[in-house]
This record gives sequence, structure tokens and C-alpha cells, in this order.
Amino acid sequence: MTRHQRRQHAATAGAIALAAAAIALAWHGLYGEAVLAGVVVLSLTDAALRAHREHQRELAEFDWARQRGLAMDPPPLKPCCWIGSSSRGRAHNPRCTRPRYEDGTVDEFLAEREGRG
Ligand SMILES: [Zn+2]
Repeated sequence: MTRHQRRQHAATAGAIALAAAAIALAWHGLYGEAVLAGVVVLSLTDAALRAHREHQRELAEFDWARQRGLAMDPPPLKPCCWIGSSSRGRAHNPRCTRPRYEDGTVDEFLAEREGRG
């Protein structure tokens, strides 16, 4: 179980418990409190969904790194990395999955790899 899955399960459990509490509050006529609990349920649901997406991304990055380790040439993930998507391709983090030679020409990439650049 990854840290993302733990966070997802905790948020899901909290959302379910709070949804039950919101229903009970509404049943007893405490509508203001029920609405407030409903807002928190939506927030916890969003957190659970975000944790699920982060878990799926971590699995995809792990599989991509495994394929690279086996000398395969996997295509880059979409988005290539979280910095690349938020900077619109201007910056990338060290764990980026795009090919390194996309920054320059293939000759520059090969020169850098061979220590000429
Ligand atoms: Zn990137």
C-alpha cells in the first residue's frame, strides 16, 4: 500500500462517516450543520479522488522506469512530469519521462552523452 492509497482510504472513510452524520443531522432538523458536513464530504471526496490519481501516476512512473531499466524505449507519459504540465513545457523535473534530446538537436544530445558538449 502506497502513501497515496493510505490517504485515499482515510479520506474515503471520513467522507462516508461524515455523510452518515450529515444525513442524521438533517433527519433531526439541523439543516445548517448538515449542509456544513456536506461541504466537508465534498472536500474529502475530492481529496480521495486526487490521491487515487496520484497513486495511478506513481504506478505509471514505476512501470515506465522499469521498462527503461530493461533497456526498452517506453514512450513518455502524459503529462511527462508535474512541473512540465504546470510550466507548459518550459521546465521539467529530474524524474521527467520525456526524451532528453527534445531540449535541443539530436546532435547536441549525442555530444552531451559522449562528453563532447
Ligand atoms: Zn517533463
